[in-house]
Amino acid sequence: MQPIPVPAFKDNYIWLAPCGEGDERRVIVVDPGTAAPVLDRLTEQQWEPAAILITHHHHDHVDGVEALRARFPVPVFGPPGTVDRWTGQGGRTLTEGDRLDEFGLRVLATPGHTRDHLSYVGQGVVFCGDTLFAGGCGRLFEGTPEQMYRSLEKLRALPDDTRICCAHEYTLANLRFARQVEPDNDALARRLEETEAMRREGKATVPSRLDLEKQTNPFLRCHEPAVRAAAERFCRRRLNSPDQVFAVIRYWKDIYKQ
Ligand code: ZN
Ligand code: FE
Repeated sequence: MQPIPVPAFKDNYIWLAPCGEGDERRVIVVDPGTAAPVLDRLTEQQWEPAAILITHHHHDHVDGVEALRARFPVPVFGPPGTVDRWTGQGGRTLTEGDRLDEFGLRVLATPGHTRDHLSYVGQGVVFCGDTLFAGGCGRLFEGTPEQMYRSLEKLRALPDDTRICCAHEYTLANLRFARQVEPDNDALARRLEETEAMRREGKATVPSRLDLEKQTNPFLRCHEPAVRAAAERFCRRRLNSPDQVFAVIRYWKDIYKQ
C-alpha cells in the first residue's frame, strides 16, 4: 500500500491510500479534518473514496467527514462515540482486534493522546493518528503516561519496515527535542540534518519507517540507558522502569521551548 499524505490546516496530514482489490481508483481516507483538500486531490487523481477511517475524536481529524459524505456517501469506521452518528450506513464502531478485511487492515487500540484512539495496521503501513509521530509522540490529553507507553510499545512491536503514517508534520520540532535527550545519538543527528533539508524544500517528512523511529525517536527508546540517564538528570531522581522514563520525557517535551 502506498499512502499519500494530503496537507491540511497548518500541519495536519489526511492520508489517502489505494485499497486496491483490482480497482486502483478506490482509496480509503484517513482522518479528514477538512474536506476541500481531499476533494481536490480525489478529482485530480480521478480517485473515489471507498471508506473513511477515523483514529480519534479531535476536530482536526473528523470535521471533514460530513462534507465528504455529502459528495461520496461512503461508510465511516472509527472508535465508539466518535463515529456513532454515521454508523448504520455501512460503517461501524471498532475496537482492538477488529479487522477491516476489505482493506487488509486490523485495529489496534492505542489510547493515551485520547481515550478512544485507534490505529490501523496492515499492508506494511500503520495509520497511527496522533499516537506515534515521526520523531515523537502525541500529547497526553486524556490518557495516562502508562497507557500511552503501552500503546507505543504495541506500535514498536510491528515489523521494522512498517511505514508510519501519522497525522501531523511535527518531525523537525520533535527531532530538535530528541537531540536534547540524546545528544550523542549519531543516527538522530543525521536524521535531524536530513529533516532540516527536507523542510527547507517544503517536503513532507512522512511516512517514516519504524526501524528509523526505533533508532531516533526517544519515546520508543525509553529502555535505552542513555535515554533513561537523560530523564533521570532532568527530574533529579532514579527511574525504575521504561514507563517512568516515558512519563518524564513526555513532560519534558511538554515544557520544552524550541
Ligand atoms: Zn488529536
Ligand atoms: Fe491532531
